[in-house]
Amino acid sequence: MNKLGLVFFPAFDWAITPTHPEREERLLYTRDQIVEEGLLDLPQIHEYKPQLATLRDLERVHIGVPNLRSHIKDAHFVSAGGAITAARAVKNGEVKRAFALVRPPGHHAMRMVHGTRGFCTVNIEAIMIAHMRKHFGIKKVAIVDTDVHHGDGTQDIFYHDPDTLFISFHQDGRTLYPGTGFTNELGGPKAFGTTLNLPLPPGTDDEGLHYMLDHFVLPILEDFQPDMIINSAGQDNHYSDPLANMAITAQGYARLADKLKADVAVLEGGYSIEAALPYVNVGIILAMAGLDYSQVIEPDILSKQGKSNLGYMEKLVQQQWTVWKNREQLAKEQIAKWGDYFVRQKNIYYDDSGIQEKQTEKVRLCPQCRGFMTIATQAETAYYDSQSAFAAIIEQDACPACRCAAKDAVSKEIKLGRYDHYFIQDKEQDTLETIK
Ligand SMILES: [Zn+2]
Ligand SMILES: [Zn+2]
Repeated sequence: MNKLGLVFFPAFDWAITPTHPEREERLLYTRDQIVEEGLLDLPQIHEYKPQLATLRDLERVHIGVPNLRSHIKDAHFVSAGGAITAARAVKNGEVKRAFALVRPPGHHAMRMVHGTRGFCTVNIEAIMIAHMRKHFGIKKVAIVDTDVHHGDGTQDIFYHDPDTLFISFHQDGRTLYPGTGFTNELGGPKAFGTTLNLPLPPGTDDEGLHYMLDHFVLPILEDFQPDMIINSAGQDNHYSDPLANMAITAQGYARLADKLKADVAVLEGGYSIEAALPYVNVGIILAMAGLDYSQVIEPDILSKQGKSNLGYMEKLVQQQWTVWKNREQLAKEQIAKWGDYFVRQKNIYYDDSGIQEKQTEKVRLCPQCRGFMTIATQAETAYYDSQSAFAAIIEQDACPACRCAAKDAVSKEIKLGRYDHYFIQDKEQDTLETIK
């Protein structure tokens, strides 16, 4: 029996605005549908109350400017905690898989937090993974992001982590928020090839999605052998979703969940609140519990199918498969090319907060250890208020030289006084030190 754990948290008191598509009804209709179908009475399904995440759980991933607490609401502790509850239930052996139907969502939230973007303030999957690594000794994790939007926050957080495989398929960034997730975003030099993006043309249907799954995602998961598979389960690829232009059906989503066999699914987007979200979620729940989902079919699906560009999919698979196969060699070339430090500039827009951030990320490519990174960030609001910060992030198992160099970098910047706030996030000590 595939016992499935479910965690619900509709977040009654959290919304961007009352009529915003990201609102509590997203989960209330789903919950009604699940109750109506009698799913909660089945012996295969067990419901869990979400536990609260702690500020430590959140700050293991994020650095908020001037502090994280000023950006988050109680709902974020429950939403992240709901994801953690789901993962713990699986790793404690109480259930085989779990699905956290929680909100606010998280996959657009990056490591540095100046505000809210794409409805996300903190990255609930990343917080869950950091918690599981700390408390359950999990090492290799694969995240498959099946939301229609590119999971740019998750990509940012794990860009330099070779133990986290991040695969995102999404509607092509040239046609949809957040405008990223192209095939040349492949991870930092030491994690090259563990970020893999599959931008799909608008109109991609079940056939196209399953082509990518069968020919790319599943074989790569098999090859990577993660300790845990996480599905960032956005349901906004559905053909009726008002925010995007894809053509996936509830049946297509259920078959995806069935094949992926994620240990934990965490709800992300999905804004066809009445027409699709409840059915899609029911299909996923049935599939994850190993139950029959063949009856989860919308009446009008035939007219929505037959639109995938399979020639494009084939080329995309070939291109990304070549990267995956040669990733160790490519990583060596990247390290040789960059030398001691990898540097990238980022422009990050917080669409919900009206903030534009400029960031310089500098990663020490140490031959002895995972190294450290520094982030220099400057954020400006529409009213020209600005705040800046400089942070050093010391990786787990950093060698003494890297630990020293990271702290020196912060001390030097404090003396120069160019930033408003200074932070040291120490993954070894499990601390976030705020210096000013
Ligand atoms: Zn989305
Ligand atoms: Zn080092």
